[in-house]
Amino acid sequence: MHEFALIEGVMGIVRDSALQNNIRRVERIKLVVGKLSMALPDSLQFAFEAIKAGEELFRQADLEIEEKEIVCRCGQCHQSFAVEDSVSFICPHCGSVNIEIIQGRELYIDCYEGEEC
Ligand SMILES: [Zn+2]
Repeated sequence: MHEFALIEGVMGIVRDSALQNNIRRVERIKLVVGKLSMALPDSLQFAFEAIKAGEELFRQADLEIEEKEIVCRCGQCHQSFAVEDSVSFICPHCGSVNIEIIQGRELYIDCYEGEEC
């Protein structure tokens, strides 16, 4: 499960930032996860719960995940549209397959909150 590696990466970034900002307890981490990022929110949540118990800094923290839809733009008629399943990348307006993904691949920390020393 690569979600464990992803969450460890996220916690590493928050840990570094918390140390720099004298934060001794993280209360909330907000992650933005695109539906094309191949990371499953349930698995991310599971991995976070499993790892956080072992670390004082994260023990009280909640993980909040905002999922982003897949949005494409057609190179032919220039319309944007949401894609439900990632297999059919065809423009619903003109049928073109010349499309560009403009949202859905993201995976980043939007913000986090903590308690200062
Ligand atoms: Zn089109």
